[in-house]
Amino acid sequence: MPGTTTTPPAVTRRNIAAAPRRAAALFVASDFCRRPGFGRQHPLSIPRVSVVLQLCESLGWLDEKRLHVSRVASVEELTAFHDPAYVEALRASDAAGRVEPQVRERHGFGNFENPLFPGVFERASTAVGGSILAAELALEGRVVFHPAGGTHHGRRDRASGFCFFNDPVFAIRRLLDGGVARVLYVDLDAHHGDGVQEAFLDEARVLVVSIHEQGRWPYSGAADDVGHGHARNLPVPAGFNDAELAFLRDEVVLPLAARFDPEAVVVTCGTDALAGDPLSAMALSNVALWETVERVIGAAGPAVVLGGGGYNPWTLARCWTGLWGRLSGREIPVELPVAAQLILRGLACDLVEDEDVEADWLTTLADVPRPGTVRAAVKSLASQGRVLHVVA
Ligand SMILES: [Zn+2]
Repeated sequence: MPGTTTTPPAVTRRNIAAAPRRAAALFVASDFCRRPGFGRQHPLSIPRVSVVLQLCESLGWLDEKRLHVSRVASVEELTAFHDPAYVEALRASDAAGRVEPQVRERHGFGNFENPLFPGVFERASTAVGGSILAAELALEGRVVFHPAGGTHHGRRDRASGFCFFNDPVFAIRRLLDGGVARVLYVDLDAHHGDGVQEAFLDEARVLVVSIHEQGRWPYSGAADDVGHGHARNLPVPAGFNDAELAFLRDEVVLPLAARFDPEAVVVTCGTDALAGDPLSAMALSNVALWETVERVIGAAGPAVVLGGGGYNPWTLARCWTGLWGRLSGREIPVELPVAAQLILRGLACDLVEDEDVEADWLTTLADVPRPGTVRAAVKSLASQGRVLHVVA
């Protein structure tokens, strides 16, 4: 099992309740976060966590005490979940710089979606190592932010949806190994958290809840898909707004959490659910995501908050920087200092037209809220959600 070499103290209800929260939030990152990957044509080639780090440093929000460096997960750790043949195929292909056709077919990498690029194996292994580390730190009762994590489509034996391994799975497993009785996983990325749901189909100690855009790749996660009783899916219509997120959070997610009574929470907070993302059509403000993350992690003491998708570098950097600000108890400035504005002004993205770059994306962190009416399609999800029983 991942990380069994160190044994943090078992988490009990008492030390969870006593755990300090915001003051103790930690940030996990690695040198990989500062370097681009995926090659020039890929949607993930945009600067992502590197910009978040720059903004946080420019705002004075990151010091050495808060920042923990990810380690690289070992092959032994990786194969506690992933198929050894797949792990070896990715390692060997990266070392050779080429992918054999049968390997591409069998394991789903070396194509446009999941390209082979130099260092891919170590980069993917570091995302896993970072999530294992985040879980270990969370076991001390902390909130831990690991924005380079959130590769929620990775499968046991193949790459999928820009994800080679599945670091959220490792964070959850590490929490369970550390003595946590029940882990709530909440996925706020625009795409269904299919890989995580599949990994825990038969695990009653984990409840997987995913809010994602209906009719969007990978086309799974229908409202009646309860993953052997251990998952809840809330597929939402395009244009999903702040009021609708608050409604589903209050009517479905938090009541489910209360019934499941988790001892730890893992959240994937992809920013592709925000207005302005080029690969999806949801319309949330970042403030709505921050508030929902805060409310969800309030369900338990230890919490791991991961990144995920997000293909607009401006909305991504503002969202995750502000999320770290909120998790670490900072006041979000109304207007960014000039040095931080220059970082945002220096970004570029082929997927976002110049005229679509909003003025606020260059000068602020917090979006103007995006309220709206709660549509019937969203209300009906809540009525389905209420009747769902937690099996665990
Ligand atoms: Zn996504």
